[in-house]
Amino acid sequence: MFNSRSHAGYNGRIKIRAEQPKLVPPPSIKEHSAMFKLPFFQTGKAATAQDAKPRGPQPFSEQTLHKASRLEGATVTEGVCPYCAVGCAQHIYTKGGQIIDIEGNPHSPINEGTLCPKGANTFQLARNPHRVKHVLYRAPYATEWEEKPLDWAMERIAQKVKDAREAGYVAKDSDGNRLGIVRNMGTLGGATLDNEENYLIKKLFSAGLGVVSVENQARI
Ligand code: SF4
Repeated sequence: MFNSRSHAGYNGRIKIRAEQPKLVPPPSIKEHSAMFKLPFFQTGKAATAQDAKPRGPQPFSEQTLHKASRLEGATVTEGVCPYCAVGCAQHIYTKGGQIIDIEGNPHSPINEGTLCPKGANTFQLARNPHRVKHVLYRAPYATEWEEKPLDWAMERIAQKVKDAREAGYVAKDSDGNRLGIVRNMGTLGGATLDNEENYLIKKLFSAGLGVVSVENQARI
């Protein structure tokens, strides 16, 4: 899904792949002052010729001059938002092999740099200290969660699905017409399932097991 490639943009301030970063030196005090000689208008008043005069040099600290975007020096990798079939393009910024930010790709004709609220939070899917990394199981009537091995959970889910299907499978209707459906269970996809996962869930549960109720909130 990810696709690294060279990129000529970003005014040379973003490192692409393994190329040496071309750091742009901060502007001198004189250059910085010149940049901010902008017209100044007072709100609530009609603009006058006096207002249109450029402002004088603005105050700033030496420290401010050396500040830069947190993306400076980052490697950019192009990707596609994994959440839905709109397929918004993203820029994935990494430093030292760690993702530091994910933003919309302004060169994409689909999203033109924008992302919906879900896509805009893709970074938190990749890096989130609250992410649960173990299977948690709460037995019937228990008040505490237990950590379980993944293999144990997969086996148990498979067995439960098999049992439910065998109990609920309807081969024919009352007139003898073939149905081959299961109505005693269903699936509800979560917001972080991507479109490939949803495709496989639909294929397994509808075409494979005959489950009627297959639902997801994403645009798939
Ligand atoms: S989830 Fe949002 S950002 Fe991601 S592809 Fe769909 S519309 Fe685009």
